[in-house]
Amino acid sequence: MITDIQKFSIHDGKGTRTTVFFKGCPLRCKWCHNPETQNYKRQLYFYKDRCRGCNSCQEVCKHQAAFFTQKCVACGECVTACNYSARKICGRDIGIDELVSEIMKDEPFYEASGGGVTLSGGEVLSTDMDYLLKLMQELYKNGISVNIDTCGYVPFDRIEKVIPYTDTFLYDIKLTDSEEHIRYTGTDNKLIIENLIKLSKLNANIWIRLPIIGGANDNEGHVNSVAELLKGNEISYSRISLLPYHNTGSSKYELIGYKYPGNDFYTPKEEDMELLKDRMTELGLVNVYIG
Ligand code: SF4
Ligand code: SF4
Repeated sequence: MITDIQKFSIHDGKGTRTTVFFKGCPLRCKWCHNPETQNYKRQLYFYKDRCRGCNSCQEVCKHQAAFFTQKCVACGECVTACNYSARKICGRDIGIDELVSEIMKDEPFYEASGGGVTLSGGEVLSTDMDYLLKLMQELYKNGISVNIDTCGYVPFDRIEKVIPYTDTFLYDIKLTDSEEHIRYTGTDNKLIIENLIKLSKLNANIWIRLPIIGGANDNEGHVNSVAELLKGNEISYSRISLLPYHNTGSSKYELIGYKYPGNDFYTPKEEDMELLKDRMTELGLVNVYIG
């Protein structure tokens, strides 16, 4: 199930890319800017500011859920009933042929820029593997470069299965300390680190992504420990991207009936991002970029 197909993306790997967002993720990062991709099921978006209080949605809802998203089964009845576009269903199943054909529309841009498609989420590797493999094989046959954007928190056999069809793994390291990882993402990082080491040993092309979250990991100690992790385990990578936190996803929480858990975070200053980048370079890491 997907939530969105984003065209002309330039931050999800080399060149111009189409990014496909899959629904479902095993992590609950407090800074997540795509909260609509966390749940594996379809969800209702409710745009409170567009609502005129006409109550048509309540009249059609068989689950008494029009304004109580917990009871909502995302049937979509109220979406059709609302004349003010205050409701939308998030998440749709899409056939492989339809998705491939959508992706192929931008083939000339991929060719010109060295881009392709990035399968993201959510956690794409935690979704239906049969579907994912068929999709990747199809794209591979069509000569499209496929990147996998992953948090790494999946059984390793899932990662291993997609290696033959993956150009680059965009691999997130959020925190190196296990307790802190649990505190901010809801899960331990042992599996994530183990999988990264295994993936590197198989000579996969890895692009390390470090979300830098003001108030959580925007400090030298964090980049020092990432450097230690990468060097100590001889992890090979083609690039390290430092990604500054932004709160652009915060408004989406309310739409799906969630409370934004990241109010204490802030966007790191540009000069602080530069210092972290310089520190990583000083520690002997190469190809370190902001963004
Ligand atoms: S149908 Fe639309 S406008 Fe009317 S109460 Fe429901 S959400 Fe609001
Ligand atoms: S999507 Fe269905 S269950 Fe959910 S509020 Fe609308 S009518 Fe009710």
